[in-house]
This record gives sequence, C-alpha cells and structure tokens, in this order.
Amino acid sequence: MRILDGKKVAGEIRAEIATEVARFVASGRQAPKLVAVLVGENPASVVYVRNKVKACLEAGLLSQEIRKPEGISEAALLALIADLNGRDDVDGILVQMPLPSQIHARKVIEAIDPRKDVDGFHPLNVGRLWGGGEGFVPCTPAGIIELLDRSDVPIEGRCAVVIGRSDIVGKPMAALLLLRHATVTICHSRTPDLPAVAAQADILVAAIGRKAFVRGSFIKPGATVIDVGMNQTSDLEEVRSLFGDDAVRLEEIRRKGYTLVGDVHPAEAKLRAGALTPVPGGVGPLTIALLLRNTMGAAEARRGAGRA
Ligand code: NAP
Repeated sequence: MRILDGKKVAGEIRAEIATEVARFVASGRQAPKLVAVLVGENPASVVYVRNKVKACLEAGLLSQEIRKPEGISEAALLALIADLNGRDDVDGILVQMPLPSQIHARKVIEAIDPRKDVDGFHPLNVGRLWGGGEGFVPCTPAGIIELLDRSDVPIEGRCAVVIGRSDIVGKPMAALLLLRHATVTICHSRTPDLPAVAAQADILVAAIGRKAFVRGSFIKPGATVIDVGMNQTSDLEEVRSLFGDDAVRLEEIRRKGYTLVGDVHPAEAKLRAGALTPVPGGVGPLTIALLLRNTMGAAEARRGAGRA
C-alpha cells in the first residue's frame, strides 16, 4: 500500500509558487496579497487563519489578517468586504467560515468580488467550475487533483465515488473528477447501501466529518483512497484500535490532549487500499498550497503582464 504524501507535494507546489511570486515582484509589481477576515475567536478558525497567513509569508506573498468581534453586524462585515473589493493592493479575499449566526454566510460569499474569491465559493466561480471554464476552484478538491496527478494516479475512465456533498469539498470534488473524465457518484447521508456503492470506486474520496467512518469493507481492493476528514480524538482505546500502538500518536495525545483522525479507518484501509492519504499530512497541507496558487492566479489575472 502506497502512502500519498500530501505534505511533500504541497512543498513542491509552494516552492513553485515562491518562484512565480519572485518573478512577479521582479517585474516591478507588488507581491500578491491575501486578506483573511476572521470573525470571532473559534479556536480552529484562529489556527487555520494563522497557518494561511504564515504560508503566504513563507512563499513571498503579502498577507493580512483582519479580526472582527463575534458580534459584528452583517452590514459592517459587508462594508468591510466592499472596501477590500475596491482596494487595488488586495488580490485575494478569504472570509473564514463558520460565521456567527447573525450573519448570512451566503450573502458574504456573494459580496466578494469573484476576481478576488480565492476560496472559489462565489456562485460565479461555482458556475464556471461546472461549466468547465476558467475560474477559482475551491482549494481542497483542487489540491486533491494535484495530488492524484503528481502521484500518477489515473483519473480518466475510472470510477470515482465521493462521500459528502458539501459546497466546499464534496460537490467541487465531483465536478473536478467529472471534468477529468471519471465516472462520478456522489454519496451522502441518504444514500442507501453506501458501503456497496463506495466499494465500486477506483478512487474513493471521503469528506464526511465522522471519525473512521469508511471501513475496510467500503474499499475495493487496490483503490486509491483520499481521506479529507479532520476529526479530533483523545480516546486512547480508540486511537489504539485505529493506529495500533503508535508511539507518536500516544505521545501527541499526552502533549496536546488529542490527535487527528480522518474519515477513513486507517488500519483497515491499509489492508485493502492501493494508495491512501494519511491524516495528518495528506489533504490538509495541499489545501493551503492551493490557496497560495489561487492568490497568485488572482494577482496575475488582475495585475499581470499586459494588464496593469
Ligand atoms: P460537511 O459540510 O459537514 O459535509 C459533510 C457531508 O458528509 C454531508 O454531505 C453529509 O451528508 C455527509 N454525511 C454525514 N454523515 C454521513 C453519513 N452517515 N453517511 C453518509 N454521508 C454522511 O463537511 P465538509 O466541510 O465537507 O468536511 C468534511 C470533513 O473534511 C470534515 O472532517 C472537515 O473537517 C474536513 N475538511 C478538511 C479539509 C482539509 O483541508 N483537510 C478541508 C475541508 C474540510 P448530507 O449532505 O446528506 O447531510
């Protein structure tokens, strides 16, 4: 069984972007700039935004985090977005989800200038994706395609099953696999006999948000399994059943209080899959690398050679 090393592939992509950024700057332009808007103090969101800002800086992009209090009104947030849309020095705008309940996430997403929508969530970019044209593609599924390509996993003509139909992972993942000529099935919580459907897949993508949901019986022998899930557990017995006596995991729980578990049962998947993404170190690092690429692309499209 082959481990698909997302961290390594993400490192390659980040190095390529750093070279592109250096070239962009050498032509006399301001480095591409990402603004990340964080509302409230959700601990996971704070970490995500911090990691995104840090990754930008490491690749030579400019990056700014704008923090707003949990109680900010929808009107005030929309006004902030309008200001960022109008600023020439801002290439990419990202609003970290989830947003507090007084704010309609959809309204905020639709307020972002599609040319700066580096998350690829604006309906115009969603439509462009399904139409097969140019536009920003959500970072997690775009990263998965990069991983498959750079790991020489063929997509065309293969049977792909995506478990999960969220707007940020499942649906765009299915669109990208379809664009690459896979035969695609999307499963969700109302899918009858899901294990049997999943077991048809040459490429199985799990984006569910449930610890070790995909068991060995869901996996066709030799399939490529992409585990998008990032779930925390602090249960030592559970960790032993999933990873065996993995000293690194057990030490991590002692140190941090938890370890990350994907949506795929790792011990069972190892016995059936031909290739598998680890959690952590699989899909996660690619998501950030593709955000950098989208920001570079946004700068290129708005201010690249022949445009500025
Ligand atoms: P989400 O919006 O909660 O969507 C989960 C999907 O799973 C839904 O479509 C849901 O079906 C389906 N589902 C839930 N329970 C199910 C069941 N018992 N059987 C079949 N389908 C079921 O989640 P998401 O945002 O797509 O994220 C999924 C996971 O990926 C989470 O663990 C998240 O943390 C992780 N994630 C990781 C990255 C990364 O960079 N690594 C990025 C994004 C997300 P219904 O639609 O029918 O409810």
